[in-house]
Amino acid sequence: MASKVVVVTGSNKGVGFGIVRALCKNFKGDVILTARNPELGASAVKELEKEGLSPKFHQLDINDHESIVKLRDFLQSTYQGLDVLVNNAGIAYKQASTAPIAEQAEVTLKTNYFATLDACEVLYPLLRPHARVSNVSSMVSQFALAKCSDEFKSRFVSKDITMDELTGIMKKFVQSAQKGTHKEEGFSDSCYGMSKIGVTVMSMIQQREMDKKGSQDIVINACCPGYVNTDMTSGKGSLTIDQGAETPAYLALLPPDVKEPRGQFVREKKVAKW
Ligand code: NDP
Repeated sequence: MASKVVVVTGSNKGVGFGIVRALCKNFKGDVILTARNPELGASAVKELEKEGLSPKFHQLDINDHESIVKLRDFLQSTYQGLDVLVNNAGIAYKQASTAPIAEQAEVTLKTNYFATLDACEVLYPLLRPHARVSNVSSMVSQFALAKCSDEFKSRFVSKDITMDELTGIMKKFVQSAQKGTHKEEGFSDSCYGMSKIGVTVMSMIQQREMDKKGSQDIVINACCPGYVNTDMTSGKGSLTIDQGAETPAYLALLPPDVKEPRGQFVREKKVAKW
């Protein structure tokens, strides 16, 4: 029988690197560290090998559909499936960025929402019974939700929103940011926050879709790692990457037949209000 396997996206550094370290210690199977840049991936693997850990490497740029497909084909031929997926790869403009909001909206949503969804759509067919998916969102999704109009809020928390509807709203946000009308149309002013609303709600929808298909005990959640000291936060976060990895890794390792969390948003290993 093929060994079990976990994939962590964007794991050459930061929270993703911490998640790989945690899973190498606690997951019974192969842990695949992925990076868009193979050299950065190789040096991250070397660093963990020095600690006595043995992650494997595969290239993955979630903005490149072919790259996702290559990873899927590798997983299919080597492992005939996938047991854990951690969608960690993400980007954020710095607060001081002077890039126009039109650009920030398009670029941020492209990676954090559309590319993450693409990775899910390509890789989910490989998920085996009892698979776990941990989508790294952010508490900023909660702050952004609070800033949205009542109309959008009610859709984002509804139990009947579909992926098509969510994707339509995410596209509409980008278009309105390009026109400069996003605030009056009821969106938050935070491109990063809107992209992470997308990740949180996407996870909830995916769990409902899995349940409808009767998939056996596949559990999908979104989470916030906390405020972590990484390049994204310019070293300002209060948590180490190992502390930031705790909640995403906890969701990756949820035991069989877990009742909660399931299709929820999790902070500090607890279900958070959405
Ligand atoms: P970093 O910027 O330190 O690391 C981000 C990682 O994602 C890097 O490995 C980066 O690769 C990778 N990445 C970016 N774009 C792509 C892509 N298109 N394909 C594949 N990999 C990609 O960020 P953090 O570690 O801080 O963030 C990790 C996750 O946690 C993100 O989703 C972030 O939004 C979330 N988060 C972080 C918080 C924090 O306080 N740090 C708080 C809340 C959420 P490369 O090295 O090539 O750029």
